[in-house]
Amino acid sequence: MPPIIGIDLGTTNSLCAHLVEGVPRLIPNAVGEVLTPSVVGVTESGQVLVGAAAKELRVTQPDRCASCFKRFMGSNETLAIGGQSFTPIELSSLVLQSLRDDARHHLREMVTEAVITVPAYFNDNQRQATKLAGEMAGLLVRRIVNEPTAAALTYGFHDRNSEKRLLVIDLGGGTFDVTLMDVFEGTLEIVSTAGESFLGGEDFTDRLVATLLQKQGLQLESAELREPLRVARLRQQCETAKRQLTTKESVVITLPDDVGHLLPDAPTVRIDRTSYAKLVSPLVERLSQPVAKALRDGQCNPADIADVILVGGATRMPVVADFVREFLDKEPLCKFNPDEVVGLGAAVQAALIADDQAVEDLVMTDVCPFTLGIEVVKEFLGEIKPGYFVPIIHRNTTIPVSKEEPFQTVAPNQREVNVVVYQGEHRRVEKNFKIGELKVTGIPPGPAGKQFFVRFTYDINGILEVEAYLPESPKKFRTVLTQHAKSFDKQELEDAVRKLQSLKYYPREDLVNQRLLRYCERLVGEVSPFHRSELEAAIDTFEAAMSSGEREAVEFAHNGLLQILSTLGYEFRGDRE
Ligand code: AMP
Repeated sequence: MPPIIGIDLGTTNSLCAHLVEGVPRLIPNAVGEVLTPSVVGVTESGQVLVGAAAKELRVTQPDRCASCFKRFMGSNETLAIGGQSFTPIELSSLVLQSLRDDARHHLREMVTEAVITVPAYFNDNQRQATKLAGEMAGLLVRRIVNEPTAAALTYGFHDRNSEKRLLVIDLGGGTFDVTLMDVFEGTLEIVSTAGESFLGGEDFTDRLVATLLQKQGLQLESAELREPLRVARLRQQCETAKRQLTTKESVVITLPDDVGHLLPDAPTVRIDRTSYAKLVSPLVERLSQPVAKALRDGQCNPADIADVILVGGATRMPVVADFVREFLDKEPLCKFNPDEVVGLGAAVQAALIADDQAVEDLVMTDVCPFTLGIEVVKEFLGEIKPGYFVPIIHRNTTIPVSKEEPFQTVAPNQREVNVVVYQGEHRRVEKNFKIGELKVTGIPPGPAGKQFFVRFTYDINGILEVEAYLPESPKKFRTVLTQHAKSFDKQELEDAVRKLQSLKYYPREDLVNQRLLRYCERLVGEVSPFHRSELEAAIDTFEAAMSSGEREAVEFAHNGLLQILSTLGYEFRGDRE
């Protein structure tokens, strides 16, 4: 049977995994690493790059790259890179395609099926968009799993005989999720989940970027438009500094000039852990509300929690562990690499679907993370007021679930009803998120108050189907929730796949060289001007060798470039600062 792979499609990094001899293992990518930056680039010659090489390219040519597009999944936003326009679904699809190729290469098998993780707080549109991105990448998406649930699966897989309550705190690049769960006799039961879909490690980096720009009298948003090279370089400097502050007491950041160069006499700023903690405290404060909500929904006191598990690269920041200690009076656990735990859990979920013997004693139940309902009108003292939200499925209901509620027409001879579907917790719809609508037509004439039923079915992928019907009629109206999501029919899907197939892809086997080239191009703006021409000459030789395609010449120039880097005091380790 062909393998089903588990994919963590992250805001900053993505990874894939599968079960090897009963144990989840990560799959290395074309440059030999397990984390693939979720960055897509288009080179000067129009070739598409995904991953580490694109991440390097982003520093020197931000207009040729797109990143953090997961934040726009489910919207109609398009991003222009290198003169071409892409939707977030297409960009995600390119990342998925790259992971699929890595898996095919590594496993030496056709890989056509996958489990993909999404933030628990992803709404219906975002889930549908993720599924579509998988289909466009030639993958049958067997399951969409919530990221904290996948993380919990990794812990549960390795600790299945215990009996305890866990709290998973997942702060990734762009989203924050909290999940309360019980483990007992091989059963993993998600009790409650809460989160924020616009809070992640990238906001911490941006906070640092915005502060340093402010010191130079600049605003992040306008500088991004007017001086993108300055912002791209500063963001990369701040990302490195943020990571270094995890292990170091203080760091020095060199401020780039308006074209993104780090000149020898450039101003520098020293930041220590205390000042960083103060700077990001408004973001840390935002962690408390979802945690409190998950505990409240699960009717749980902090004292009932056995372990607090940290997941997502951004939980490496000491401010997050400090928050857990202070807010929950618990020492957080970090048994697995926080970058990898979701991907590994996706592989466990894939094994559950494939009925793998290694997981035959494991059972998992999940919940619907938000309340789902429809808009209704209310009558106050004879006055009809629209815009009220009535829940049909309450948040933290165990899934799959199917629930039906009766409603009534409000006007005499009302022939149709527009069922508008929302997700959220507010009693007024305008404060909630609209996810679609469904028109019920053919209501027979008659007085107001004619009854009809609305049924919501929320499946294990977190995808909602809405049905409405009149009790006296066999006809059922079913949704295609198209309001916000870019929904594709078969033809559109085929067109989108054709578009992706017509792109020129950078050859996989040359990605290591492409990454080195882009890394060195980035260094041109960083090395001292005395060494710049030496480095540029070596880059030229390397680029010429790459264009010639002569293997030996490429290898020779590659080694020459590494040697120069080493004499300049740089070690090519790619992304790992
Ligand atoms: P993820 O989506 O789980 O890959 O999370 C990636 C986020 O974690 C990014 O915002 C990274 O900047 C952040 N991150 C990764 N490693 C560290 C670290 N050592 N210290 C602080 N943040 C980190």
